[in-house]
Amino acid sequence: MTVTTRFAPSPTGHLHVGNIRTALHNWLLAKQAGGRFMLRIDDTDAERSREEYVDGIRADLAWLGLVPDGEERQSARFALYEAQFERLRAAGRVYRCYETAQELDLKRKVLLGRGLPPIYDRAALKLTEDDHAAKAAAGEAPHWRFLLDHDEPIAWDDGIRGAQAFEARMMSDPVVRRADGSWLYMLPSAIDDIDMGITDVLRGEDHVSNTAAQVQMFTALGATPPRFAHEALLTGSEGKLSKRLGSLGVAQLRENGIEPEAVIALLARLGTSDPVDPALDAKALAASFTLRHFGRAPARFDEAELHRVNAAVVHRLPFARVAHLLPDGMGEAAWEAIRPNLEHIGEAAEWWQVVTGPVAVPTLEDEDRAFLATAAETLAGLEWSGEVWRALTGALKEATGRKGKALFLPLRLALTGREHGPDMAALLPLIGRDAALERLRAAS
Ligand code: GLU
Repeated sequence: MTVTTRFAPSPTGHLHVGNIRTALHNWLLAKQAGGRFMLRIDDTDAERSREEYVDGIRADLAWLGLVPDGEERQSARFALYEAQFERLRAAGRVYRCYETAQELDLKRKVLLGRGLPPIYDRAALKLTEDDHAAKAAAGEAPHWRFLLDHDEPIAWDDGIRGAQAFEARMMSDPVVRRADGSWLYMLPSAIDDIDMGITDVLRGEDHVSNTAAQVQMFTALGATPPRFAHEALLTGSEGKLSKRLGSLGVAQLRENGIEPEAVIALLARLGTSDPVDPALDAKALAASFTLRHFGRAPARFDEAELHRVNAAVVHRLPFARVAHLLPDGMGEAAWEAIRPNLEHIGEAAEWWQVVTGPVAVPTLEDEDRAFLATAAETLAGLEWSGEVWRALTGALKEATGRKGKALFLPLRLALTGREHGPDMAALLPLIGRDAALERLRAAS
């Protein structure tokens, strides 16, 4: 069977770093096996779901390069849920309940007060058809629970957590449908996973208890459960679930000059024992992706690390990838000369301005000004080539006896107006002969 994974966000907000990581890991898991990565929009909650978030999710995935091999949305699949629900109803696997939230809360408190686990007592199972008729006559509509089979063991071999076992009798029968007929997350998700041929469900460990109930939903629907894996949750660098993480999304990352390649390189390895490698693209990361390398400890997301990875990524980006983001006239040689000095692509414009000028004329000691006058004369007599910086500094070293900082710094200051910057050997040919002579003379 083709490995098929899915990313199933609820469009009730923008994707944040944690969601992005889940999406990426599902993409990697699918691609690693030559399989399919599906996007499922979990929009059964009509009130909280918004179309702008659906568009945002698609745009964010596109920016990251995580292109889904197919998309479904739950709001278009109610007929399927209805049909499967009828099957479960006919088989006696869903039942009608009428307790209010307050009543349920009270029951829970009583149990907890007695030191017992707050499990739903199945009181509604005892209602007769007459009781139901009376409720209906009184205008009371039921909500529905899935009847867990207390005799069916719940176990799976979790791709990350290892062997998992739950006792159905220690769990409440989950509510799957509200009194107004709307669906809660659990049942539609299992129905979709079956219908969409999902072979691997990879999601956060906050879903482990849902999985325990869903395992029985799969079997009740006549399907073999998919493989499950639950990742440790993402925490901030300080080790706690931070507010910042919950809001940090693609929009802010882009605003901060973070490239998708950096997000991918970092998040692909976050939570695993594998080192982050800025040289690896998504395809290479997929090739080496394995759930076996995931740990159970919370995965720490450090924004400072993302910035470091981003700089390393920018230093490797080929011209063709960035050409449209660069100032007019800035070509491949300039990009290659300048990129080692960048943290963000946006800073290229600043350095390009250093190439094209004008640059600040430095204030220097007389001695350095005399040296720069010699430099201008020397440069004027040199043949202009790609090697001109070496030729110039070699000749000046010989003529003046200067070396190291005394040789290079005045030249850099005069030619660029700055103390630091890209390799002068690459920069000088870009500045050009006339501008270089003019800058040396102006500083002398
Ligand atoms: N919509 C659910 C969520 O965002 C999906 C969980 C799942 O992967 O099944 O939590």
